[in-house]
Amino acid sequence: DKGMVIVGAGEAGVRAAFALRERGYQGTVTLIGDEPHLPYERPPLSKGGEEAETVRAIVANERFAEAGITFLRGHRAISVDPARHALLLEAGETLSYERLLLATGAAPRPFPGIGTSDRIHVLRTVEDASAIRRHMRGDGRLAILGGGFIGLELAAMGRKLGTAVTLFEAQARVLMRGVPEKLALALQARHAAEGVELLCGVGIETIADGESGVTIGFADGRQIKVDALVVGIGAQPNTRLAAEAGLAIDNGIAVDRHLATSDRHIFAAGDCCSFPVTAYGGRRVRLESWRNAQEQGSVAAANMLGEAASFDAVPWFWSDQYDLTLQVAGLSDGATSTIGRTLSPEAEILFHLDADGRLLAASGLGPGGAVARDIRLAEMLIARGTRPDRAALADPSVKLK
Ligand code: FAD
Repeated sequence: DKGMVIVGAGEAGVRAAFALRERGYQGTVTLIGDEPHLPYERPPLSKGGEEAETVRAIVANERFAEAGITFLRGHRAISVDPARHALLLEAGETLSYERLLLATGAAPRPFPGIGTSDRIHVLRTVEDASAIRRHMRGDGRLAILGGGFIGLELAAMGRKLGTAVTLFEAQARVLMRGVPEKLALALQARHAAEGVELLCGVGIETIADGESGVTIGFADGRQIKVDALVVGIGAQPNTRLAAEAGLAIDNGIAVDRHLATSDRHIFAAGDCCSFPVTAYGGRRVRLESWRNAQEQGSVAAANMLGEAASFDAVPWFWSDQYDLTLQVAGLSDGATSTIGRTLSPEAEILFHLDADGRLLAASGLGPGGAVARDIRLAEMLIARGTRPDRAALADPSVKLK
């Protein structure tokens, strides 16, 4: 029995393992994860205050035994031999597979030439998160490099815990990718009101780590010294295994709409892969999103069992900062007009339409769950390729249904 083998015990890999059983698969299922922990949720690592101290497991340990899933914790896969259907583990063991799923995730992009230390961090793992939180307790200053989701969420968390925070963004504003200017500026204003020192349009040239702190040098020659630095400048897909096995790579492990790689016995899901998005004419994207990883895990499992399920979900992402939640559904590139829907003084949705009036994307920002329902409905409209009535979109008293 060669069975099903999954590399990567994150959101995508775990979902796939259980989905194989839910679909009635009776053979062996082996899940391999190189972290020393039970699979855990990453979103809480950059959110919340003290509650983020506790690791939130994706599933309870006993569920693996109940489902008959062999979970090899703390094991790293080091090579794939597609011709022999074999996977080699670092510990020396070789596993044969009927079908293989690569769910290897992504890794933080480092600042060129700068590694991590007691004072310089990236954020991906539970270890990274606890190292960063140690700097949020004292009265020092924490610098964050990068105004993306992780940088902004960490800034909010730092303020909640009472630390001085300076955030540097090279671009003219935060969240340049995928979030409309109006909502990004509203978030910036909130960060400023919470006491974050937010500096946009600043190029950092040098970072020097020293016993007493980190010295950051700017393009104009100025320098500042902070107690600790988090580098949050994006992530890179973990593609090494796939690339060395000769699989096609294109901004991630390239899969088709069935999540099959260029080898039909090997699938990929989650942050590590790029896939064609059905709702956008097959445009290839790679997403770093929790729901995407889960849904792709399920679809990959179905196809490992011989189905031909298409992955055609509308991209969706959320971020929590202070009491605000940002949600983005769809892809707004190619939009030619934007319509605003004001739900309250603090809550707004922006709808992005193409030249034919087709809804491409919706972005919402507001306290708690204020924007959730409209974004969910927008997702359905996007999936159906709807051309909604503009006046109805703009009028919060008109239900999107
Ligand atoms: P991962 O969760 O990265 O899992 C991959 C696993 O594979 C890792 O454990 C890795 O160590 C392991 N692995 C890699 N190579 C090997 C190998 N060769 N052998 C064995 N194991 C291997 N998304 C949202 O939608 N909303 C949010 O608010 C949000 N917040 C986030 C906050 C943080 C701090 C982070 C880091 C991410 C956040 N995300 C958020 C993104 C979301 O968590 C990811 O999209 C999701 O975790 C991706 O799941 P995955 O299974 O593809 O990859």
